[in-house]
Amino acid sequence: MNKFIIAGAASVALLAGCAAEKAQQTQGAGTALKSTPASVIVSPNDDRQYATFTLPNQLEVMLVSDPAAEKSAASLSVSVGLLHDPMTQQGMAHYLEHMLFLGTERYPDTKGYTDFMTANGGQHNAYTWLDITNYMFKVNNPAFDEALDRFSDFFKAPKLYPEYTDKEKNAVNAEWSMRREMDYFGQFKLARNLMGEHPANRFLIGNLETLGDKEGSVLHTETVEFYERYYSANIMKLAMISNRPLDEMKALAAEYFGAIENKNIEDPTVTDKLDFSVVGGKRIHYVPNEDVKQLNIDFTIEDNSDQFAYKPNRFLSYLIGSEMPGTPAYQLKAMGLISNLNASASPTMYGNYGSFSIAIDLTDAGMQNREAIVATVMQYIELIREQGVDEKYFSEIKTSLNNRFRFLEKSDEFGYVSNLAAAMQEVPAQLAVASPYYYEAFDADAIENVLDQLTPERVRIWYISKNEPTDSQLHFYDGKYQVATISEEEKASWQQAPQIALSLPAVNTLLPEEFTVKTQPPQDKPELVIDNNDVKVWYYPSQAFGEQPRGEMTVYINNGMPETDAKATVMTALWTDLYNLQQSALMTEAGIAGMSMRLSDGNGISLRIGGFTDKQPELLTTALDALVVDVNAQNFAQAVDRYIRGLQNQGKRFPFYQAFDAYNNIIREGNFNTEQLIEAAQGLTPKDMQAFMQVLLSRNQLRIFAFGNYDKADLNNAVERVLAALPDERTTVPYDFRQYWQPQPGQKLVWQEDLSVADVAVIDMMVHPEPGYATRAAATVLRGHFRSAAFDKLRTEEQLAYAVGGLAAGIGDYTGFAMYIQTPVKDVAAMQQRFEQFKTEYVDMLGALTEEEFAQLKTSVLVTLKEAPKNMRDEVVPFMTDWYREKFDFDSEQQLIDAVEKVTMEDIKQFYQHTMLNDEAAHVSVQLRGTSFVEQPFADIKGATKITSLAEFHADMKTQ
Ligand SMILES: [Zn+2]
Repeated sequence: MNKFIIAGAASVALLAGCAAEKAQQTQGAGTALKSTPASVIVSPNDDRQYATFTLPNQLEVMLVSDPAAEKSAASLSVSVGLLHDPMTQQGMAHYLEHMLFLGTERYPDTKGYTDFMTANGGQHNAYTWLDITNYMFKVNNPAFDEALDRFSDFFKAPKLYPEYTDKEKNAVNAEWSMRREMDYFGQFKLARNLMGEHPANRFLIGNLETLGDKEGSVLHTETVEFYERYYSANIMKLAMISNRPLDEMKALAAEYFGAIENKNIEDPTVTDKLDFSVVGGKRIHYVPNEDVKQLNIDFTIEDNSDQFAYKPNRFLSYLIGSEMPGTPAYQLKAMGLISNLNASASPTMYGNYGSFSIAIDLTDAGMQNREAIVATVMQYIELIREQGVDEKYFSEIKTSLNNRFRFLEKSDEFGYVSNLAAAMQEVPAQLAVASPYYYEAFDADAIENVLDQLTPERVRIWYISKNEPTDSQLHFYDGKYQVATISEEEKASWQQAPQIALSLPAVNTLLPEEFTVKTQPPQDKPELVIDNNDVKVWYYPSQAFGEQPRGEMTVYINNGMPETDAKATVMTALWTDLYNLQQSALMTEAGIAGMSMRLSDGNGISLRIGGFTDKQPELLTTALDALVVDVNAQNFAQAVDRYIRGLQNQGKRFPFYQAFDAYNNIIREGNFNTEQLIEAAQGLTPKDMQAFMQVLLSRNQLRIFAFGNYDKADLNNAVERVLAALPDERTTVPYDFRQYWQPQPGQKLVWQEDLSVADVAVIDMMVHPEPGYATRAAATVLRGHFRSAAFDKLRTEEQLAYAVGGLAAGIGDYTGFAMYIQTPVKDVAAMQQRFEQFKTEYVDMLGALTEEEFAQLKTSVLVTLKEAPKNMRDEVVPFMTDWYREKFDFDSEQQLIDAVEKVTMEDIKQFYQHTMLNDEAAHVSVQLRGTSFVEQPFADIKGATKITSLAEFHADMKTQ
């Protein structure tokens, strides 16, 4: 179903929902494992109870009992997916996934499931991939029984209403329409097109062209047949987590899932063989929508996922992707030919075949030397064949995985069960938790077997840029291409001695040697522990995870540059880009050692170091030593090129993402139109950059936030190191924070923009006149109800979009309430008009809310707000948010909880009146017009100010 969670949580990966994000983590069927452990292997840090068993209907179950869990969750996966679609109804597996949400025998209401989840603090979703369909939900503990009853009925007696069969194909079509312009999907489609008769060569998502009644095929009939044929208990896996004891959960599993029919079907698999003399040895020229300069060396490999315990793909991608001195990534970066190199494998990408892929981002200089870059990588693979299959790398990877597994943290219940139900389809249940970390032995044969497939016969080399020759056009996706055969001459060049000196990676020096935990007295909130003229340090030891030898330190060099200075904005971005590029070897080494480091920009620069604390002092020193980046004419021009293309490529993203960007740019100072940033970037020189770095490092407000396993001496040391990295002559300037717009009564702001992609996106945001926690609390209670009402009406009933809903959003201390949509079927003005109608229609729906339903909504919101953090990241995020905004009471979360406790039914009705139905409420309307609607009008908002220049608007904008 892939509903979106907005408010920043929606990412491209999430949106790729039905697809991409699951492709990378497939594992094997476990046949190569020497012995399967008797019980579930979990981290020593995991004190939850686990059990696995098989119900009489052959449904395999994994239970996790966690007395501390405040939400319960379940996920059920079916071992059938897009590869098994009937060719008469391509997209069927995905489309059926959508249909199961629309009512069952016991719960026939089409919106009953969504409403139930909203009322009980729930979350639900599903995804479909080549060989799996996976459904999952999470809900407040007391609602778990009923949730299981509703959920399990999907797999026993779905309604599959014929009238919604006809409707829901539009939602699938809208989902396809969103992805049609995404280069990932176009390239994946082409990769499969080139596989001839292999079942991977098909359309996956489905649209109005492939789903529907046609001669010899009726959609509804085929939907029922597909369900009847494949939805069988013996190819399903179930994972559940809750606060109940295992025996109770076992009874629940039997009660609700024991009656799913076992049709004793064979696990659907694909066995078709590829002919590499036809499929391999190709060069593909591809013209994408985004302005990228990429080279992808892609080998088609046999599915070796059953060797997950020996990780041959991991071993090889570790060596090929290494950033250590002497490796291709290191050497080619040093020569200014590439900016990124990533090696990865996905062994079941095409069912019984997978892909081992080396993806490279090129500079212009690299574009001129593509054949030489390919030859370098091929020659390095040869070097690995000769010298690289060495147990020392196994030991290093194993240590890295062991360390991570030993201190593995809990994650959200929703994602956890979803991953478990997927993993159980691939590995023995006992290893479903551990398999990503489980490295049983060094297996040279397994590695050499993969190396034997990294050959010219199996390679496809992708040249991806705006300037490729093309002679063909994809169907169903944007993307032009041309396929050529790689010449024998070029292949022969791969056998020659390398022209660039290549060597295998040296050993990692940052692996932790000790896991000492520095016990600290309890603290209610972060404290300012060092405060002098030069630097301020806040410290907060983890209250919930004091046993973790981990910490996170942010060094924030906040600047005093004027918010109106576009050049300063551009230069901090270029600085972080060059820094992260020049330090990629260090970052990779730190990553393997269980640490992280990253420089990011925003009112200056901030360096964040995280992970195991043992070697953090060394990491911090090295990271700081390089803070002033090397700038020369070539690398500066390349950084500017990446920056400008990055800005331009934003315009190729999903329209509704672009709409939220436009909205965020309006409500906060310090933002600029894309053209203004590009102009600023084009006017800069390496000299400007060098001068800028000196100014920022010598005039700033220096702040550090340390969270986790540190003591006072660590903090003092860190301060010394940071000060040593900055100029001796330093001036402290006031802290600078980009302020939020102060909404004025009756003020209406409109942003209208023509897109270079097809769909329309609209955000209609109304701001409550009163700032403060009371209005924020009312909005927080109301939003779930409003969101499901909007979703039900505009998507399930009217089928206007795939991405649609309502939301509440903070604007500094103010609160706005909004509707948003991305639609392929309505123009901007018509969509705005439909929003206006819905705002009025909703009054009756809100009026029908009973006191009991209201109480339930409120309780659910409180359960979610009060949920204890599951890991260190969860624990620190609210404090960091307050820290950036200088809310040094660190109590924003608590204030909101206190305010929600006080919210009444009358409050939420008043809130609705004062925002959505209030002509005097401040209004922000974002209207993005896709290419399909360029002839239709924008929406006319009476009395509105049309913003054309963000810089001009912000120059006069009143701020909070
Ligand atoms: Zn979908």
